Amino acid sequence: MAKMRVDKLLANMGYGTRKDLKKFAKEGIIRVDGEIMKDLSQHVDTERNEVEFDGEIVRYREFVYLMLNKPKGVISATEDHVDRTVVDLLDPMYLPFQVFPVGRLDKDTEGLLILTNDGKTAHELLSPKKHVPKRYYADVQGEVTEKDQKLFKKGITLDDGYQTLPAKLEILQTGPVSKIELTIFEGKFHQVKRMFESVGKKVVYLKRIKMGRLELDPQLALGESRELTDEELDLLK
Ligand code: URA
Repeated sequence: MAKMRVDKLLANMGYGTRKDLKKFAKEGIIRVDGEIMKDLSQHVDTERNEVEFDGEIVRYREFVYLMLNKPKGVISATEDHVDRTVVDLLDPMYLPFQVFPVGRLDKDTEGLLILTNDGKTAHELLSPKKHVPKRYYADVQGEVTEKDQKLFKKGITLDDGYQTLPAKLEILQTGPVSKIELTIFEGKFHQVKRMFESVGKKVVYLKRIKMGRLELDPQLALGESRELTDEELDLLK
């Protein structure tokens, strides 16, 4: 992005509506290359000019990438008439970026959800051709066995006849409720739950812990989000 109106740039970065910005400009708190800027219809070059808002340099960026630890009870959408959405959990400073969730987790699933406004990266992560691995932790009712492991390794036939790709099932603990980790290489509707249903078991808790090479930050509490670091972003691309 090179040239852009000052008010558009600041509005995109969450500094206020165009009306708010007009008021701020009158107050003299917006500067471009050190000069007070009152006419916000002027264009600036986002790579060359330095824009300041109330003494703070505005770092323009087009894209943001967030990691959310999704809690239960919110839906993976940008708006909904009934339920709260994952976007409602974000710091309002990200609203002007119009981020959206990369893929979906069920309403009752927790864990790693990436939100961005970078359509190209989102598309690549979700493309069925790319087989980006997704790892889940689950509590499963019933004893998960080595036989299940073998079946998952071959691929499971779901209730609609779809044959999944081979998946990696790791058994952490067996018992009346087993603890497992499952890595799948596609993202069919309710896939993890349906894979276990096909072997007669029920997922009672599900959490995504990894997508591609990016792991959920264990420091993030449920409902919390933060921007990806540059290193984490590299893991996604
Ligand atoms: N598989 C499911 O069944 N649910 C999810 O939310 C994600 C994967």
